Amino acid sequence: MSGPLYSWGRYPRLPQTGHACHWRDELAAALERLVRSQGSTLAFGNGRSYGDSCLAASDHVLQARGLNRLIEADWQAGVVRAEAGATLGEVLAAAIPRGWFLAVTPGTQFATLGGAIANDVHGKNHHRRGTFGSQLLRFGLLRHGEGLLTCSPGENPELFAATVGGLGLTGVIVWAEIRLIPIRASRIEGRQQRFGGLAEFFALSAELDERHEYGVAWIDCLACGSRTGRGIYSVGEHARYGRLEVEEPTRLRVPLTPPVSLINRLSLRAFNELHWRRQPAAPSRLRCGYQPFFYPLDRLLNWNRIYGRPGFQQYQCVIPEAGAEPAVGELLRAIGESGQGSFLAVLKRCGDVPSPGLLSFPLPGTSLALDFPQRAALGRLFARLDAIVREAGGRLYPAKDAHMSGSDFRRAYPAWERLEALRDPTLESRFWQRVTRQ
Ligand SMILES: Cc1cc2nc3c(=O)[nH]c(=O)nc-3n(C[C@H](O)[C@H](O)[C@H](O)COP(=O)(O)OP(=O)(O)OC[C@H]3O[C@@H](n4cnc5c(N)ncnc54)[C@H](O)[C@@H]3O)c2cc1C
Repeated sequence: MSGPLYSWGRYPRLPQTGHACHWRDELAAALERLVRSQGSTLAFGNGRSYGDSCLAASDHVLQARGLNRLIEADWQAGVVRAEAGATLGEVLAAAIPRGWFLAVTPGTQFATLGGAIANDVHGKNHHRRGTFGSQLLRFGLLRHGEGLLTCSPGENPELFAATVGGLGLTGVIVWAEIRLIPIRASRIEGRQQRFGGLAEFFALSAELDERHEYGVAWIDCLACGSRTGRGIYSVGEHARYGRLEVEEPTRLRVPLTPPVSLINRLSLRAFNELHWRRQPAAPSRLRCGYQPFFYPLDRLLNWNRIYGRPGFQQYQCVIPEAGAEPAVGELLRAIGESGQGSFLAVLKRCGDVPSPGLLSFPLPGTSLALDFPQRAALGRLFARLDAIVREAGGRLYPAKDAHMSGSDFRRAYPAWERLEALRDPTLESRFWQRVTRQ
């Protein structure tokens, strides 16, 4: 057993008792023990989900992080099989020197393979490659009382589809086999460009995403009036020449959790203004390592602590293409007027590569994600944002969520009943209880 575990937002504050397992052949017995003693459990990767989807209804999780070995690799074909507790960073450490990279990566390299599958994560190249599940060849799934099943689009296909984006509810993923993409160098080259408003963002994304592997925008969530929707667009690709180098992870960390959030309206306005002004008005070249490009936040360990003891919530929604521009405008106006939010605000166009998962989050449209220090007033703002998302036919991302209503979830994810039918009844999360029973 280890100390209490929390989700990344540290909200809701529901301490989890971790039960670690380090060996594949001990996993079935560990699951059995937990089910007998607690009634139900949930696999826990590395706790990089923000809300309550990685918290067990029983508050006792089965920690898979100790299962972190590389099992097999074909470096000719770029196919890797590893245990599900291996982080994306650990896969990259083996793959980069051999000229391979993850085909899809979220904004943290500390997510595990199991977590990446369970949330069917997406990255800056969703417009080209879809979600993590699109690059997934097969995995081993341990179900209580059924043993280890191999799942792929051709073998146990229903369980494959339900597990990709299945929030850890269909079984414990023991290992996964993924397809990588070839690279010639590990650095990233691209460009950055300021935009003055949403119309410009949409024009830029239409022009740039087609030509670049990666594209994403930072947005100033506090800008109001004529400046609403201003931000900085970044695009990039793997450099054609250079070294294949695994970058050193950071050692910088936030040492403790302050009693209150260090993010407030004043510090946020100042940061956003500075960040915006630092970017030259004309497009500029971008050359950097893969870590600052893909994982800027990973460079400060435990950064989630800056929100203080109350924690924080992330609001991430995706709005279908047709109504995206007016709806995102409304969302930003509501956020700007509230004066809440943080400097971590991201706008991204999602493409139309279909996700293999039943409950995958992305859909063709625009995704907006931003963090908010936890406080009572957030409820009113989130209710307003939810109404805008609902009206536009959009949905929220379960991996980031701690507030979505059951009715919004069931409307936005109509396949939830198929997942419920395939759920391993011994696996249950706080999130699933909240959105399917309330
Ligand atoms: C800084 C930061 C940036 C991020 N950027 C993005 C982004 O760009 N795109 C994106 O999509 N997400 C993003 N995320 C979210 C993150 O990628 C996902 O929440 C991911 O699922 C976290 O993986 P984890 O290993 O920490 O899993 P956890 O958070 O511990 O668990 C997540 C889910 O996976 C399940 N799970 C974990 N391991 C297993 C297993 N072995 N078997 C079965 N189920 C399992 C859990 O039950 C839970 O439902 C970001 C998170 C952070 C902190």
